[in-house]
Amino acid sequence: MIKINNLHKSFGNLEVLKGITDYVNKGEVVVIIGPSGSGKSTYLRCINYMEEPTSGQILVGDVDITDQNMDINLIRRKVGMVFQHFNLFPHMTVLENITLAPMKLKGLSKKEAEQVAYNLLDKVGLREKANEYPNRLSGGQKQRIAIARSLAMNPEVMLFDEPTSALDPEMVKEVLEVIKELVNEGMTMMIVTHEMGFAKEVGTRLLFMDEGKILEQGNPKEVFENPKEERTKLFLSKVL
Ligand code: ADP
Ligand code: MG
Repeated sequence: MIKINNLHKSFGNLEVLKGITDYVNKGEVVVIIGPSGSGKSTYLRCINYMEEPTSGQILVGDVDITDQNMDINLIRRKVGMVFQHFNLFPHMTVLENITLAPMKLKGLSKKEAEQVAYNLLDKVGLREKANEYPNRLSGGQKQRIAIARSLAMNPEVMLFDEPTSALDPEMVKEVLEVIKELVNEGMTMMIVTHEMGFAKEVGTRLLFMDEGKILEQGNPKEVFENPKEERTKLFLSKVL
């Protein structure tokens, strides 16, 4: 589903991604952990082209998103992304947040887009919030809406960048439940998370990133129980 070949990304003189090569199969749930500043967010942002790679190649399905002539909207349709801070449009209702992109980028009529939106609101359990504005929602509700908004484009892949890190503890579970439902439906996902229990439960593969590289990877349980690299051991000793 995704092929990443020798991906490099620098900001000025700062080399943040130092040659990442990886494959993500359809239906895989790749969980990514690693110290702050190791390049996890930049890695995900390159995969939906919010950051332009400095060099290397990224294929999503059979589309080379690093191709010069790539249509950015096509990438946004294929690859959904959910952020730590939700990034809902504050001046739009929940329904407008969800219907905007399908109408603009996929050419759905308002009626069609609202149909899709209501189905997704049911899925995340928030149909009654359709006409609310984001500032009237809890953090957990905002994040569930952000997930629904992303799913409205019917993406082939979903990227999650610390989706629960900004939430109060009692709201973490409701968001993880929604993500777990996507796992059960076979959605291909890459998830940066600090929720180690969740990573172990849903991850088909775990990547440990350090200083712009994938330092270690494997079955999540095996990496947690038996990390091979010293840096992985050190990191896990702090977070587990
Ligand atoms: P992580 O998500 O693992 O904490 P990031 O990918 O956010 O790491 O950041 C990796 C490094 O890249 C950090 O040193 C960060 O300051 C730097 N960085 C990220 N985005 C930018 C940017 N837009 N401009 C300059 N430096 C950036
Ligand atoms: Mg980050």
